[in-house]
Amino acid sequence: MRILFATSEAAPFAKTGGLADVAGSLPPAIASLGHEVTVVMPRYRQVDVHALKLKRVTTFMVPLGTWKERCDVLKGTMGNNVTVYFINKDVYYDRPELYGTTHGDYSDNAERFIFFSRSVLELCEVLQLKPDIVHCNDWQTGLVPLYLQRLYGSAEMLRKTKTVFTVHNLGYQGLFWHWDMRLTGLEWNVFTPEGIEFWGKMNLLKAGLVSADIITTVSKTYSREIQTPEYGCGLEGVLRERSADLYGIVNGIDYKTYDPLHDHAIPHRYSASRLSGKAGCKKRLLELVNLPDKGDPLIGMVTRLVDQKGLDILTDALPDIMSLGVQLIILGSGEAIYHRLLTDAASRNGNAMRVLLQYDEGLAKNIYSGSDMFLMPSRYEPCGLGQMIALRYGAVPIVRRTGGLSDTVVDYNARAGRGTGFLFNEYSAPALVDCIRHALKVFSNKAKWQRIMKAGMNEDFSWEHSAKEYAKLYQKVMKRDRV
Ligand code: ADP
Repeated sequence: MRILFATSEAAPFAKTGGLADVAGSLPPAIASLGHEVTVVMPRYRQVDVHALKLKRVTTFMVPLGTWKERCDVLKGTMGNNVTVYFINKDVYYDRPELYGTTHGDYSDNAERFIFFSRSVLELCEVLQLKPDIVHCNDWQTGLVPLYLQRLYGSAEMLRKTKTVFTVHNLGYQGLFWHWDMRLTGLEWNVFTPEGIEFWGKMNLLKAGLVSADIITTVSKTYSREIQTPEYGCGLEGVLRERSADLYGIVNGIDYKTYDPLHDHAIPHRYSASRLSGKAGCKKRLLELVNLPDKGDPLIGMVTRLVDQKGLDILTDALPDIMSLGVQLIILGSGEAIYHRLLTDAASRNGNAMRVLLQYDEGLAKNIYSGSDMFLMPSRYEPCGLGQMIALRYGAVPIVRRTGGLSDTVVDYNARAGRGTGFLFNEYSAPALVDCIRHALKVFSNKAKWQRIMKAGMNEDFSWEHSAKEYAKLYQKVMKRDRV
């Protein structure tokens, strides 16, 4: 099959979140199954044309509103089996950030991503790509399936092409005022509640949801949750209507990047069958953050400091958590209020708590490898990568039972002696504290704890499995008629 993967970010080129990790790992994993995979993304300032030796392959015009804009296409590679085309248009993408600064989103984001979405399909014509599948991701590419349905579907290059649209986080929808419709070049008859209108605004995520042949999201549980008012962010009705075409495929993690047996970012190497190095990692982590080595259980967190990640219940629960005799290290950045609350709590718990308000992948790995437990009390979690990395490094996850966390962490069952972590249901500070208390009780039994650690380390969350699921879905949709 020929797959064109359209994304607004991909590691290692440009990253703001989990989408970049997926877009940097999934295409090579699908290509390894023997398919022809091409990625298309904007050329941001972060993408270094010279270091990556990108070559200009063509220049073309993209219709936008009533006029046309010119762009270049640069060609690069991802791994050794995926071609990447970068849409090079400096006025849109040569900026300090991808979507906005701390002062807010860029005011022309509608124009930037309407242009990008349309350029994806124009590129197919210009380079004669003829993909079997265009796989789109999140609101930034939500218009691609709609364009294919309305404007490009009869073109020779795209006559048989089907679309897959993946929702990585329903919380970000690409909502813009209705007059931006004029930039799309689409008829006003798509601006209806059945189409891309959403309470008077244009909703680009909804464009993907109503027009893609197949919708996927990044875990089975999240695919069910988003059909309910609690998690649907107002789009639950649309998702319920498309439930027959909605699938959940859990993300993977890169097993080469995250491998405690070969990782040189951590001070000692270890595996499920040779665990001894992990104690050295804990010792080193405590030294790194200047906490005393008292033999207390050590809880780690690596996260964006935002509501979604459970920071409100965590900050409420902190006095109770710290009274349980644990040490806590939090690495992250995000909302100012949580920076302040966590810094205050750390200064009250000088011997037991550290907060590091930064983004640091090396330090993150030291936390995954040095911690006994890893905390993710998320309000909602489409998939979550942190808990999978923690499992791989033998930091036992303590997580809320939601989205991908439910699908990847197995709650410890004392009677059966089985499980890979600890889950709690209710989104509340007391439920979180109870769950930690339970984990600590089990932690005091070393043999039991090691069994849990090893069970987690032996799980397989590599991309290979998920890539096969996507390939199966592509095959299925290719046989169908278009939506
Ligand atoms: P989300 O994409 O919603 O932020 P995920 O759990 O899916 O959450 O992915 C977060 C990824 O980013 C993980 O790999 C995590 O280790 C990493 N990460 C988050 N915050 C930091 C940080 N401050 N420093 C280093 N890595 C971080």
